[in-house]
Amino acid sequence: MLCAAHAQVTVLKAGKLIDVDAGTVLTDQVIVIRGDKITDVGKGLPIPAGANVIDLMKMTVLPGLIDCHTHVADGKNDGEPFNQLRKTASQVVLESVPNARRMLESGFTTVRDVGVYRALNDIALRDAINRGDIIGPRMFVAGAYVTITGGAGAFTGQAPDVQLTWDFHYGEANSPWEVRAVVRKLAHAGVDHIKVLSSGAVLTHGSDPNSQEFTLEELQAAVDEASHFGLRVESHAHSAAGIKNALRAGVASIEHATLIDDEGIALAKQRGIYLDMDIYDEECIQESGRLGNTPKDFLEHDAELGAAQRENFRKAVKAGVKMAFGTDAGVCPYGTSGKQFAFMVKYGMTPMQAIQSATSNAADLLGKSKLLGAVKSGRYADLVAVEGDPLADISLLENVRFVMKDGKVYKH
Ligand SMILES: [Zn+2]
Repeated sequence: MLCAAHAQVTVLKAGKLIDVDAGTVLTDQVIVIRGDKITDVGKGLPIPAGANVIDLMKMTVLPGLIDCHTHVADGKNDGEPFNQLRKTASQVVLESVPNARRMLESGFTTVRDVGVYRALNDIALRDAINRGDIIGPRMFVAGAYVTITGGAGAFTGQAPDVQLTWDFHYGEANSPWEVRAVVRKLAHAGVDHIKVLSSGAVLTHGSDPNSQEFTLEELQAAVDEASHFGLRVESHAHSAAGIKNALRAGVASIEHATLIDDEGIALAKQRGIYLDMDIYDEECIQESGRLGNTPKDFLEHDAELGAAQRENFRKAVKAGVKMAFGTDAGVCPYGTSGKQFAFMVKYGMTPMQAIQSATSNAADLLGKSKLLGAVKSGRYADLVAVEGDPLADISLLENVRFVMKDGKVYKH
């Protein structure tokens, strides 16, 4: 074990540093890093002898970005789920290796990966990154989709007599007790959180995003059972009813929240539940539709949802609902999540709020505020930097110039 006193000391000199907790910008900051943690931050701090000094005086430093809704472990996502059947699970996870690197090099030092077609592939990827075998973000993974049969998280569209391998339907559950059984299996497999789906989906064959999936009772079973293992639950939900059921069941976040109504917004605010609204990826769904790569039924599901989601995002921000940054990475190419920041500002956030959604808020949603999400003593040394002032031009976050994770530099 490397103890802090003997660990490699690195010092970052930051011209500007965004304090996401205070919502302010500090200047001329010295950030002292020992091993994988930040041990001191301040103006005019002495530079420890023998420290490796990195000069970022011309840059703005901020905490490593966190994307709370990714599918990094799904391999090459080309729009058609059936293509998953052309590959083994090993091929898919190996295809995911460059996805992980792209996420990290674009400034996302942490991701919450919220489901895979091939169950537990995400655990393999997470563990390989943690061992240092491959390069990628710190991953928090779901292991599988907890879904009703034929639901948003199911593999659908094949003939009823086609038998899929176990990993394509690992998370299927059709009663409160089946939900509990699946949560127990996933907890035992080592997941970091549980992903349920409480409405239909856009990118699933035979699904209707306006529908409701799971009963309130089943969702409550998921939240209660997950809590026994210290796990939080996020719920995919497009429809107003699916969103409200999940809110009432006490999930930690609603994913997409596309058709959230006023009652849903009030409930989310009152209960302090995060919304994780992927308002950029509509651009990619439509673009890939124009190129003929998105299946026609997916484009039909998607019609009008994109615009509604953006207006509801604006309403939720205005109402003061807690917002976390999630892009559904995989729908848009891995490594382009930063493009969502400009859309969040376009639809009502201040640049500081957009940055907080991907740092302090995201860390809070993960239950990791003491370790992630701010440049403070005791946190992991996950830091990024951009040239210029992202509070004046939020699109600078699409072009992160410096990336450090765990005290190690991955891009400079
Ligand atoms: Zn997703």
